[in-house]
Amino acid sequence: MSLPILNRDVFDQVMVPTYAPAPMIPVRGEGSWLWDQQGRDYVDFAGGIAVTCLGHAHPHLIHVLTQQAQQLWHLSNWFTNEPALRLAQKLCNLTFAEKVFFANSGAEANEAALKLARKYAHDHGNGQKRDIIAFHQSFHGRTLFTVSVGGQPKYTVGFDPLPGRIIHRPYNDLAACAEVMSKACAVIVEPIIGEGGVICGEADFLRGLRALCDQHQALLIFDEVQTGVGRTGTLYAYQGLGVVPDILTTAKGLGGGFPIGAMLTTTAIARSFGIGSHGTTYGGNPLACAVAEAVLDLVSEPTLLQEVTRKHHRFVSGLQAINDRFRVFRDIRGRGLLIGAELAEPWRGHALAWMANAQIQGVLLLAAGPDVLRFAPSLIIPDDVIDEGLARLAHTFAQHLDSI
Ligand SMILES: *Cc1c(COP(=O)(O)O)cnc(C)c1O
Repeated sequence: MSLPILNRDVFDQVMVPTYAPAPMIPVRGEGSWLWDQQGRDYVDFAGGIAVTCLGHAHPHLIHVLTQQAQQLWHLSNWFTNEPALRLAQKLCNLTFAEKVFFANSGAEANEAALKLARKYAHDHGNGQKRDIIAFHQSFHGRTLFTVSVGGQPKYTVGFDPLPGRIIHRPYNDLAACAEVMSKACAVIVEPIIGEGGVICGEADFLRGLRALCDQHQALLIFDEVQTGVGRTGTLYAYQGLGVVPDILTTAKGLGGGFPIGAMLTTTAIARSFGIGSHGTTYGGNPLACAVAEAVLDLVSEPTLLQEVTRKHHRFVSGLQAINDRFRVFRDIRGRGLLIGAELAEPWRGHALAWMANAQIQGVLLLAAGPDVLRFAPSLIIPDDVIDEGLARLAHTFAQHLDSI
């Protein structure tokens, strides 16, 4: 058997070492299955980090992408294009939004949101209100501004000087937030903290933030980059919470695997982004927008969204059964198909090791910090594939631990 020419060693030779990817290299995907160079199969519970919300190689997305590829790839924002207009109309019809700004990633959508909040305060006689309130453990992207707004110091070490006037408070602690609102132009919050540990925002906390923002003329920004596009069982998580933000950012699942981000807001707020005040070369790219429109059409179907909640229960029961056998988790939480399983002693700190072990048994997971296994599979993952992946996960624990 001849060895593949491209193997994991090539990564270390030619790639900037910001990542330590898995030893195997996937080459093909279909639905919730992936195959590596050696033809081994994997159940995909990672979903490209909550991105491939319709799985791999979805026939309708392939059709729309290849159709668009034969029409028009790119224009720049000196021109508008039909896919971008259609997608913006759909986002406005399906959410609180009246205006949309397209970007290429979650970080860029957040960068736009944060800049807009500062500009809006400036334009409305609140030029002294510069503070951005954010939360410990939150994640908003890796540009210098968004990484500074994120609440995880490990991501800013060595990158100083950082942008100023950013204040971090404990998540789910409304009183702590109230103390610092007087000079705030915006509060930015994930309805469920994703990357930082799958921590659900309490409804009272998120509603309380809405009231605080109203009281202090600050804008409420929901970072739904991870929770959006059906992930929690409603198209956007805010729709299941009864709290409407002023600005919402969406990316990850929006393109189903094609890079795109968007910032949604109202007409009144959007006015502060006048001609020339912000921009992007690729934002609103026809290929990305055509695919995202197809994703939205499929994901906004009520039956698909109901299924997400049903699959949540199946997934969580499966994890509970694993826990009954091995006592590896101290908490299983999340909403829809964004699920976290927090490791119990003595496995705390070892999420990456369990991910690697699971991979060897043919199931791909994510971590959310050192203590939490995270699951963000396709929203249309079939029940039998959920069961197969969980069986492989159970087998992973059985290889290393005695059952109780
Ligand atoms: C992933 C993520 C981002 C960053 O998105 P990128 O596309 O990686 O820039 C921002 N916010 C949240 C909540 C995320 O999960």
